[in-house]
Parts: sequence; structure tokens; C-alpha cells
Amino acid sequence: MSSVLNRGEPPAEEGGGGDPVSLLGAGPHFMPDATYGVVRATGADDLERAGVQIVMTNAFHLMLRPGMSTLRALGGAKAFLGWKGPLATDSGGFQAYSLIRENRKYGRIDDRGLTFLPAGNRDKLLLGPEKAIQNQLRLGSDILFCLDDCTHPDDSAGEQEKSVRRTIAWARACKVAFTKALAQSKQLKQAKPLLFGVLQGGRDPSLRRICAEALVEIGFDGFGYGGWPIDDQGNLMRDMLQLSRELVPPQFAMHALGVGHPGSVVTCARLGYKFFDSALPTRDARRGRLYCFTRESPELGSELKDWMDFLYIQDERHIKDSRPLSEFCTGPCCARYSRGYLQHLNRIEDVLYPRLATIHNLLFMRRLTELLGLEDEAQHKHQ
Ligand SMILES: [Zn+2]
Repeated sequence: MSSVLNRGEPPAEEGGGGDPVSLLGAGPHFMPDATYGVVRATGADDLERAGVQIVMTNAFHLMLRPGMSTLRALGGAKAFLGWKGPLATDSGGFQAYSLIRENRKYGRIDDRGLTFLPAGNRDKLLLGPEKAIQNQLRLGSDILFCLDDCTHPDDSAGEQEKSVRRTIAWARACKVAFTKALAQSKQLKQAKPLLFGVLQGGRDPSLRRICAEALVEIGFDGFGYGGWPIDDQGNLMRDMLQLSRELVPPQFAMHALGVGHPGSVVTCARLGYKFFDSALPTRDARRGRLYCFTRESPELGSELKDWMDFLYIQDERHIKDSRPLSEFCTGPCCARYSRGYLQHLNRIEDVLYPRLATIHNLLFMRRLTELLGLEDEAQHKHQ
């Protein structure tokens, strides 16, 4: 097996450093989503510049494109992305579920796993628990997620129950496959990848409890909050996120999967979540919604508007504005360029705009998680 984990390489100076085990002790950490193997519009050096410490990619999408044999030939996902820091991988359960829910012709979900029928005339793909683990290990992931059977909060009670039953069975199978693979490979054992279980149960507290207790008993390095974190009205599922955190013993890190709105990150970090991943901050950047601190070193109060602004770059009032997006941003976007210039780049659809904007929002997320870490530290001191 080639060296897919890049363990021997020195960490980058800013961001991109540290091993996954050390990330468990600090935090919180926001992981930008490189769903298709790229945080759109940025390179690995841009991510380092933005202070990104860990990136999340999607094993399911990479399995479809470019495919596992290509990735293996290119040295695994980290070498493929040019990323030297820790890498987390989603099993793809959520994405496959979203596609299948959207259109049944894309496949089906049963006790064996997700059967996916890709567009075109390729063979159908079965993503079961063992395959999900094998794929993530072959990618060279540092934090792997068990395959889970995702539901929407509004799915029927029967669906939620079935999902929890399957999620537990698949988590057990994932753990067996993971333990076996590590026992058979000295290199994998040395790399110390971490395996996270994923909690399902929709908005039913008793199902969340059944799922959490079963997963804690199977034993994982950490746990993810699974299912949609936002309800149909756009509200964060705060009660379920809180309950799930309380159901998992505090020594285990928890990941709020798919949570990336600054306000939601603050709420979840205060509930005790350590990891976040979402495409929202980077997608917002590309679409012109930029996150800006309005104070040098803000106390993150309960009101978002007290310490941050959403700046919409398309807004006409920025045309002749020579100020940077934020005077409290240390990135290349704000060191050199004015709001007026960024608006111009956006208007002429130059590729420089999404790159600068993405770095800007990622720097904001890094600073936000740093501030949340300091807040958490200060609170522990007072206890
Ligand atoms: Zn900036």
C-alpha cells in the first residue's frame, strides 16, 4: 500500500497541521466541505492561509468520480487534494439519501445499504457498511463516519424507527470492518484513524436515546448528530441537538453534521459540539454573502447582530466603497482589495472573486471557532 496518509510530512505553518487525535482535545473546529474533492474556488494553500485545520470530503461522491482505483493510483484523497492536514470523510449516507429521496430512480435503501443507480449506463453501486469503511480507509481518512440511514425530521414514526434500527446495525458492522482492517494493516494502525458513529432518530427523543445508548455501547471515538439539523421552517433543531449531546458521555467529541451558519455554530458549540462541517460558508461566499466581524475581539453575545454583519457584495452601495470587507479580517481579500473592487470582480464574473470571498468567509469561521474555544476555556476556569 502506498503512503496515503502523508504522516511524514511536516504540518503547514498556518492551518493544515495537527493530527486528528490532537484535534479531539481542542476546538471547536469548522471543516469546510470538499464534497467533490475540492473546496470550490480554492487550493490547499488557500485553505492553509484561511487557517483551516481539517477538511471534510465525501467518500460517496469520490467513489463515483474519479473512482476509488484512480484515487488509489494518485496516492489517496489527501495527495489528490494536495492537503497536508487531517481529513475527515463522510460515508455518503446523507448525500445518497438526499438524491434517492429527491428521485426514486436514483436508487433504493434497504437493510443491506444504499443501492445507487448512477446516471448513464454504469452498473449499480451498493454502498453497505463494510464498503463505506473500506472506501474511507482507502481514501486515507483520519476521521471516518459510519454509514447511517438518514431521515428527514418530518418522516413518519415508522420511518424513524426503521432508520434507527438500521443505523445501529450498520454502525455495528462498520465497527467490525474498521477493527478488522486496522488489525490487518500495521500502517493503518499507526495512522490511528478515528471512527465516529452517527445518531439518528429524527425529532423523537426516545429514538434518539435508543440510538445514542446503542452506539455508545458499541464504542466509537466520537459521535455525529445525524439527520437534518434544520427543520422545514429553517430553525435549528436545538432541542434534539442538546438532547443528543447530553445522551453521549462528555468525554466523547461530537460533530454537528451539516451545521455551518455562524449563529448555529455558536449555539451548538455552547451545547458542547466540537466539530462542524457545512458547505454554507463557502457557498455563501461564492454567492456574495460575506461574513464580517464588526468588532476587533468580540464577546459573542446571544445576538448575532451585536458582533457580525452579513455583507451582500452585489449591493449597489459598495460600488464606490474603498473600505475592505472587514477591517478585522487578516486575509488577502481585506489586506489589498476594496469592497468596490470585489463587487466589480463579482459583476464581471471573474474567477478571482469566489477565491478571495471563500478565503474571507473561511477566515471568519476560523476566528469564530477560536473565540468559541476561548469562551469555553474561560467558562471552565470559572467552574
Ligand atoms: Zn477578508
